[in-house]
Amino acid sequence: MMERTLVLLKPDAVQRALTGRIIQRFEDVGLKIIGMKLVQASREHATTHYADVGVRRGAKILEQNVNFLQEGPVVAMVLEGIQAIELVRKMVGSTESKAAPPGTIRGDFSHQSYAYADTHNMVIKNLIHASSSQDDAKKEIALWFSEKELYAYKSVHEKHTFGK
Ligand code: ADP
Repeated sequence: MMERTLVLLKPDAVQRALTGRIIQRFEDVGLKIIGMKLVQASREHATTHYADVGVRRGAKILEQNVNFLQEGPVVAMVLEGIQAIELVRKMVGSTESKAAPPGTIRGDFSHQSYAYADTHNMVIKNLIHASSSQDDAKKEIALWFSEKELYAYKSVHEKHTFGK
């Protein structure tokens, strides 16, 4: 039940200086940060990261995502916690910011719609990426982090979240 998930604070989150407020939410809920760094993604790296978006959403959206992810540095994180993949996706909210409920990261800090993005030929700037399945998490963590960049340490969560 303990899971690891990959989170990226995309260039809009970094440029809007929202990284601290977003990271705070994950710490508040009791997730443990086991890896974190600022990264400027290359085209190749961004393309590998979004490979499945090309399959699911088509070449145009893939290209927009690859360009946007490279627009500036991103904060890459690995979070660990109980069923962390589902928990983080719930905290992030739906892909279309307009539809993401208040209380979610996308719902609280962004409001673009699919219609607006389509009309303006742009990607929805929804601040954050989070792995969507165990398979994706495994692949994405390996893409962004080496084993040496993931740390084991004791936090209060060992007692109050993960233990008795
Ligand atoms: P999510 O990030 O919620 O898992 P996807 O993996 O399906 O969603 O899509 C990757 C990213 O592509 C989204 O976070 C969003 O920024 C962008 N995106 C997806 N669909 C569209 C669309 N129809 N128009 C513009 N941008 C889109």
